[in-house]
Amino acid sequence: MTLNTKILRFFFLLMGVVLLVVLAVGLYTLREFSFYTAERHARSVAETVKESLTESMVNGTIAKRQQFLERLKDVPGVEGVRVIRGLAVENQFGPGLIMEHSEDEAEANVLACGQPAFKAIGKNGAMVFRAIIPYIATDTGTPNCLQCHAVSRGTVLGAIAIDIPLDGVRRQAITAVSLLGLFMFLTALLALLLLRRLLQPLVETAAAVKDVVAQAVGGVFSGRIERRTSDELGEIASQLNRLMEFLDEGITTIGRRVGELMGYSQGRQNIANQFVTTTEMVEGLVEASHFKQAIEEDQSKREVYQRLARVLGDQYDFHHFSIYEVATSKNHITPIVLDGALDASCRWCDPQILIDANACRVRRTGHEVNAVDFPDICTMFRDGGEGETHICLPITQSGSVGSVVQMVFPAEHGQLARLMIPFIAVYLREAAPVLEAKRLMEHLRENSLRDPMTGLYNRRFLEEYVATLIAFSQRRKSVFSVLMLDLDYFKQVNDSFGHEAGDKVLKTLAETLANSARTSDMVIRYGGEEFLIILMDTSAEDAAIIAEKIRVKVEETKIALPGTVLQKTISIGISEFPSDADSFWQVVKYADVALYEAKKTGRNRVVRFLPMMWQEDEKY
Ligand code: GH3
Ligand code: MG
Ligand code: MG
Repeated sequence: MTLNTKILRFFFLLMGVVLLVVLAVGLYTLREFSFYTAERHARSVAETVKESLTESMVNGTIAKRQQFLERLKDVPGVEGVRVIRGLAVENQFGPGLIMEHSEDEAEANVLACGQPAFKAIGKNGAMVFRAIIPYIATDTGTPNCLQCHAVSRGTVLGAIAIDIPLDGVRRQAITAVSLLGLFMFLTALLALLLLRRLLQPLVETAAAVKDVVAQAVGGVFSGRIERRTSDELGEIASQLNRLMEFLDEGITTIGRRVGELMGYSQGRQNIANQFVTTTEMVEGLVEASHFKQAIEEDQSKREVYQRLARVLGDQYDFHHFSIYEVATSKNHITPIVLDGALDASCRWCDPQILIDANACRVRRTGHEVNAVDFPDICTMFRDGGEGETHICLPITQSGSVGSVVQMVFPAEHGQLARLMIPFIAVYLREAAPVLEAKRLMEHLRENSLRDPMTGLYNRRFLEEYVATLIAFSQRRKSVFSVLMLDLDYFKQVNDSFGHEAGDKVLKTLAETLANSARTSDMVIRYGGEEFLIILMDTSAEDAAIIAEKIRVKVEETKIALPGTVLQKTISIGISEFPSDADSFWQVVKYADVALYEAKKTGRNRVVRFLPMMWQEDEKY
């Protein structure tokens, strides 16, 4: 119920009650007044009649009273007058005229008890006031009752019944009450008009406040209230307007700034509830900041990708999504995450993107690829016939696309997914520099562990890796062999063909060695032209066979140099862990001892370490 209706209802109720009370009081007062007037009139008539009858008694004309009594009804304002003879008078003077006999119980009662009776009664369809007033014998004055009546003082001599018409009074009362009612009605109407005039600004301001506040709750702060009066109401309107301006400017500025941070476009921002959107964006930024802190403390790129996968899966409820990483130097893409788990396979795209990174539209353009708004935008996407669609986002590192996040979802969830993109983009922006830093670190570390000329692992790598290697071997209770290789008469190459030719020989040898080893084996450039190969799960006997094959391969390899073709040989020493020694470095030493033995015994040969060689070596 509106304030206006409430006030009107209350006013009408109040006015109705007041009108009823005033009318009731007016009617009652008029009735009492008319009864009072009629009673006085009746008493006056009774007194006059009494005086006339007394006069007749004194003059001796009482016998002729009938005419007088009949004429009494013609007295103005009186409808009927009857004198009733009491018992004492009857006893003294006889029954009197017939008209002097009591006619009803009321008259008999008055004669019996000597008390007057007054009553309004209906007579011939009209209202009359009937007064029955007793005549009581008194001895006061001259003449007095007791001079003629042989009765004692206080005896009821008779009574007079007078009917006074009330219709005139009633008419007057109705007229008066109607006028009063009309006056009250007009007063109420006037009061209502004045009240409405007074209340109008209050009601209108209240309605305007309601609308503006409702709009604000809905996120629109542009509503204002018209200032209608210069009193407290006007002040409320001004203050509320000021508050709305403050909120409008504040929320718009915060929304715009947060939107800028989120990468929200202005258009999108205005669609939704500003306040709710801004709050959601701020929450998104706070969560993204926690995310950033967490990934900065992560140790590897893998952990960062895993955390990103958890955000997409747990926070944004994507069940199908892939994360790809673009190789820094080559035109390759590597799958890192598939459907939330670390996996190096490609499910949602044509695998062609893996070998030709530019086939991936995001990688090529550096822009979001949104199949919700632009279906079939990417020819590399495969929806598996399930009505799935996709949005792919780049993770931009140093101006180029370093990784690609692909979210796959049913087409009917497209609009919802689209709304999440700015939030996810914040995470990707936070992840980008961290991923880049981790990538760089991993790259630097990888470089520091590899020999730049041959691309093989270096001695530092071996030093770092040795603990893992030993633990691995001990856990599996397996043996491994160490081959120490050295080119024969390599110095001659440098001396005869120059250092560059020497480098070429080294690179060719490195390639030959790398191609000869299994993926589980490790080829290391140990020194200038010394190489070390660790053959996993291989005994010295088996290692000798492999070493022999390597030796032959090297011997057969032709190295083309400007103006000539070279063929070089190598010598190889073999030792075994842990049978030769408990210490890895001692085993390496023994391989070196065996190599020395190979050199000593003519070069271009494979020699298995024997304990006696060590003793012999000690002799030198
Ligand atoms: P041996 O059969 O006894 O091994 O004879 P060698 O001539 O190979 O003798 P040694 O192993 O002592 O010689 C190593 C030479 O390898 C010395 C050095 O000039 C050369 N060398 C080491 N590293 C490089 C390199 O990176 N590039 C080139 N071109 N030469 C290198
Ligand atoms: Mg050497
Ligand atoms: Mg050598």
